[in-house]
Amino acid sequence: MRKNIVAGNWKMNKTLQEGLNLATELNAALADTKLNCDVVIGTPFIHLASVAASIDTKVIGVAAQNCADKESGAYTGEISAAMVKSTGADYVILGHSERREYYGETSEKLNSKVALALANGLIPIYCCGEALEVRNADEQNAYVKNQLEETVFNLSTDDFSKIVIAYEPIWAIGTGVTASTEQAQEMLAFIRGLIAYQFGKDMAENTSILYGGSCNAKNAAELFAQPDIDGGLIGGASLKVADFKAIIDAF
Ligand code: PEP
Repeated sequence: MRKNIVAGNWKMNKTLQEGLNLATELNAALADTKLNCDVVIGTPFIHLASVAASIDTKVIGVAAQNCADKESGAYTGEISAAMVKSTGADYVILGHSERREYYGETSEKLNSKVALALANGLIPIYCCGEALEVRNADEQNAYVKNQLEETVFNLSTDDFSKIVIAYEPIWAIGTGVTASTEQAQEMLAFIRGLIAYQFGKDMAENTSILYGGSCNAKNAAELFAQPDIDGGLIGGASLKVADFKAIIDAF
């Protein structure tokens, strides 16, 4: 079902104690508030279990920022989807551009990760988005279409209905440059059109599609007011309770 979602991505920030403080302060700030969106925080792996145990996960969902492309076994340093689920997390961010760029995440690997996440009852927040050169060449639509066709468009209808899409133009991530409201709306409408073509109009209407890239308290309300923008994936601004809450309150 299509929902409004504000999801934080803490990336590699916060010690365990700092993360627990942030999560519990956010929980306190949101308790007894009527929320017009689902709220999710994507913490480092080692924070997941403690954070999930310290907050009301009915108010704030917990996400991992990645999971392994293998089920289990001799993969030193990896964290499986089953392990993530066992911490109390319900979501996993997959295909973030930083993972694609710095850790060689290919469509093939992402297909395994998405499948394992779904098999273990996690909701993938699947990221896509183009680099600046692609945008400058005006090839962003073909690029994002290809990213989706190589991965989540191969899912069954039932599986696709469980995922969330996040469009994050790489040139807007952590740069302070937000896509204009028109650019973000245009791309999210394009993605929704692709989903309609691939899975039908009902699926397109029911899929939550988020925008990510320097979304903040100042621009969130205008972005979220667009017909195809169902919320945001928030990096930097999710690291402070007041900033993140202001974005949540933009709904
Ligand atoms: C992100 O990394 O998902 C992101 C959107 O970061 P920022 O909000 O800092 O641009």
